Amino acid sequence: MKIFIRIIRVILGIALLIGFAYGLYTCAQAAPHTGDYLYNLEETPAAPAPVVSQSGKTGSSAASAVTTDNGTAAPTDVQAAPVVEPVPEPTPLPDTPEGRAAALGLSAPPQVDITSWEYMLVNGDNSIDEYAPETLAYLNPTIDETDIRTTYSQYRQNSVVDIRIAQALLDMCVAAENDGQVVYIASGYRSYASQQENFIRVCNNNGVSDGKDANGFYITMPPGCSEHQSGLCADITDKWYGIKTAAELRNNPLSVWLAEHCAEYGFILRFPEGKESVTGVMYEPWHFRYVGVDAAKYITENGITLEEFVGLYA
Ligand SMILES: [Zn+2]
Repeated sequence: MKIFIRIIRVILGIALLIGFAYGLYTCAQAAPHTGDYLYNLEETPAAPAPVVSQSGKTGSSAASAVTTDNGTAAPTDVQAAPVVEPVPEPTPLPDTPEGRAAALGLSAPPQVDITSWEYMLVNGDNSIDEYAPETLAYLNPTIDETDIRTTYSQYRQNSVVDIRIAQALLDMCVAAENDGQVVYIASGYRSYASQQENFIRVCNNNGVSDGKDANGFYITMPPGCSEHQSGLCADITDKWYGIKTAAELRNNPLSVWLAEHCAEYGFILRFPEGKESVTGVMYEPWHFRYVGVDAAKYITENGITLEEFVGLYA
């Protein structure tokens, strides 16, 4: 009997060993599956992972499109920081043209030598005394080619300009003609003596002595203070006017055309409406001044005057 019980114990022991061994085998079998499963789990997030890091990098070029992705998926991606840094531009020094423009909310002005002839400032406060252009160009000889009429036959002086602006003036006038406008160069260069006569005549006609209207704005400039004496401007209308008035010429097709295109040829509308207190001169939709293309575009686009432009460089 005892032997029988011992045999059973041995059998049970063997059975337990087999069971234990089987258990180990089963675990060993299951382990690779678990491993695979974990591996798959790892692979799933691993797939978007490179996308996140990519979007983190491409965020530099397409910042707004992936801002949310960057913010949530890759908050630790510090590489976004150098992307932000270049955005704030260095503040221009206050005593520079850029700084003065920025303080006025204007774009950066072109780099020019403000002492160059194109920017000669002539107004009630800046007399050029008896200055006269070195070389004048008579526009009349081109009449057969361009059909641009001038006052040459009536007042020889009035049909000339400083030779340095003659080509640009003709180019602009020819372009206007080609666009269906009728162009009449009513007044170009006027000498000191001519302006003196002009000043007295206009003052007498208007019953004033200082050349100013009731608002205190010049309707004619004292000799030395007229931009016409620089030879760098011209009064351009569609016909001869005994008296040019803003009311009549404001919506004139040529005035509108010139205001829109003058900067392309280096000219500005010198005395704009609403800027009378800056220029000291009444609104003159016919008076165009050469300043060169860069300055003309800047002045026109920013809605400023030559006085304000020159002031940026002072
Ligand atoms: Zn004028």
